[in-house]
Amino acid sequence: MVECQIRARGIRDVRVLDAMARIPREEFVPEPRRASSYSDEPVSIGWDQTISQPYIVALMTACLHLEGHETVLEVGCGSGYHAAVLGALARRVVAVEILPELAAMAETNLKRAGCAANVSVVTADGSQGYLPLAPYDAISVAAAAPATPQPLLDQLTDPGRLVIPVGSLFEQDLLIIEKSGGKTHTRTVTGVRFVPLRGEHGWR
Ligand code: SAH
Repeated sequence: MVECQIRARGIRDVRVLDAMARIPREEFVPEPRRASSYSDEPVSIGWDQTISQPYIVALMTACLHLEGHETVLEVGCGSGYHAAVLGALARRVVAVEILPELAAMAETNLKRAGCAANVSVVTADGSQGYLPLAPYDAISVAAAAPATPQPLLDQLTDPGRLVIPVGSLFEQDLLIIEKSGGKTHTRTVTGVRFVPLRGEHGWR
């Protein structure tokens, strides 16, 4: 997975590659679909949601330039896999999931994979960020938003980085938003297709 799907497509951040080589992705894929754990595609995790394609997890994570001291917010915890990868690279991860069933599943998966020590799973509407533990040095959003939710920008430290898919329900641009000196600078990384962000600042 790491060699053929991630390094071969140009991701060279050794810390990201090492983390993804170490974390057992099969622990985050529901039993009936375990054979697809290392496939080059999103995999269904139930409740109409998916665990993202490994390359997209690597790309989004690499965009955040994590060094190890950060508090990271993940919006859309799903299976918990991406949160585990972030947890391997940062000090602490707050992973917010709107569906309680998936939040419970993510917690179980993270424990079984031995990745739960610095990852807190919270059931909440992450389109509003998560104020009790803000601010965050980095934010990763794993669901497609109609626009960048203002609370996420407000809960980002300065300097800080936010990666988020923004666009229509059917196609989005993966944006990296860098906050620095009180200003934000936005770049498009690539075209993507994510499941919809729900909640106050998502698709109603
Ligand atoms: N990062 C996940 C992929 C999850 S797919 C993984 O590694 O498995 C996107 C997830 O976002 C879904 O689980 C969905 O329920 C969740 N989601 C959608 N809107 C949300 C919101 N407003 N707040 C928190 N989670 C949300």
